[in-house]
Amino acid sequence: MTKPIVRFAPSPTGLIHIGNARTALLNALFARREGGSFILRFDDTDLERSRQEYIDAITVDLGWLGIEPARVEYQSKRFGIYDEVAERLRKAGLLYACYETAEELEMRRRRQLARGLPPVYDRAALKLADEDRKDLEAQGRRPHWRFKLDHRVVTWNDLIRGECKVDCASLSDPVLIREDGTYLYTLPSVTDDADMGVTHIIRGEDHVTNTAVQVQIFEALGADVPVFGHHNLLTTARGEGLSKRLGHLSLSSLREDGMEPMAVASLAVLVGSAEAVRAIPTLDELAALIDFSHISRAPAKFDEHELEHLNARLVHEMPYAVAEARLKALSIEGGEDFWLAVRTNLVRLPQAREWWDVVNGPITPVIENPDFIAKAAAVLPEAPWDTTIWKQWTEAVKAETGAKGKDLFMPLRLAVTGVGHGPELAALLPLIGRDKTLQRLSGKKA
Ligand code: GLU
Repeated sequence: MTKPIVRFAPSPTGLIHIGNARTALLNALFARREGGSFILRFDDTDLERSRQEYIDAITVDLGWLGIEPARVEYQSKRFGIYDEVAERLRKAGLLYACYETAEELEMRRRRQLARGLPPVYDRAALKLADEDRKDLEAQGRRPHWRFKLDHRVVTWNDLIRGECKVDCASLSDPVLIREDGTYLYTLPSVTDDADMGVTHIIRGEDHVTNTAVQVQIFEALGADVPVFGHHNLLTTARGEGLSKRLGHLSLSSLREDGMEPMAVASLAVLVGSAEAVRAIPTLDELAALIDFSHISRAPAKFDEHELEHLNARLVHEMPYAVAEARLKALSIEGGEDFWLAVRTNLVRLPQAREWWDVVNGPITPVIENPDFIAKAAAVLPEAPWDTTIWKQWTEAVKAETGAKGKDLFMPLRLAVTGVGHGPELAALLPLIGRDKTLQRLSGKKA
């Protein structure tokens, strides 16, 4: 295969969510695996709604996932190119001026429906003479511009959906330029895909209906038609679409919530495919699992509990070298011994902070039976301490008091850590150290 050139083309009008991450990752990982290149293209032709803050946020989110674009483009800087392409299409008789108002079009649509006809634009504007156009413009009407579709069947072999066919005679000629001269998404998108040599367009199936029109525009421009792949969309567990307004599923809120990028990436890529959803530790390994023909046609449900589960798996197995910088950023100084002691108790890495606070103190000891704890304190082994101290100590306490099982361990844990659950005390005790343990056993905050 020639090296693929792919793109992810968000409109920077909101934060991106895990469903957008699915599109971005399918493109970026496919390019990575095949030695191709990945373009990040901001579809920011809507100057009113596009914001720099979203451009920045999307860049940060993709960087967090580990996606580094080979090229970044902004449609807002390319209006001159779109104007030239529009002019070419006009000259070829493929882009024509229409003057109907939205109300007129709506009335016509209703009439067609009432007569049992498909509500397709009737191309009335094509019949206008130059004089008619002048009159309309003299009345202050501005044209919008439609692409004249060739009324034939367009077929493409979708990477994910297989053979697709659309009879373009059943479609209205699409509006490419609005009355105020602004572009709808179609023309800039095809122009850029052609200009940037995009070989594969992998995107959500909400765009499947645009494809036949786009194929015709590629052909009208004399460009190679890319390969298309339309993937299923992620929905919430209740089956609702993920919208940009669903803030808590935005990548930035998942990140702030302490989620691992590879947990998000693993779920975003593997859900709704033939692969079992599981935590994959690296992007290269995840890239190896992508198989477009194995992506399901049914919507894929995004389940937050599944994400937590994947996240926990990654954290439980995370080597210290991977966690180190992030632990330091959380002011956790316990080093590798601390990390290995607590990681299997975490769902999210930042929760390590709670256990660091327990180790480092001060905590308030919980002592329900002071006599028992005083006896335990009396047999606390001498320093130096290592991971065998817990066993030595509990055996000594058992010999002294006769307590065993939970009655032995729980009061000690409550006194030494202030809580009734947590990582193995064998690992925590040497980290807490003898002096602090002794203070806690005497009931002092330490
Ligand atoms: N800006 C479009 C979107 O966000 C891109 C669609 C496409 O990939 O062609 O939906």
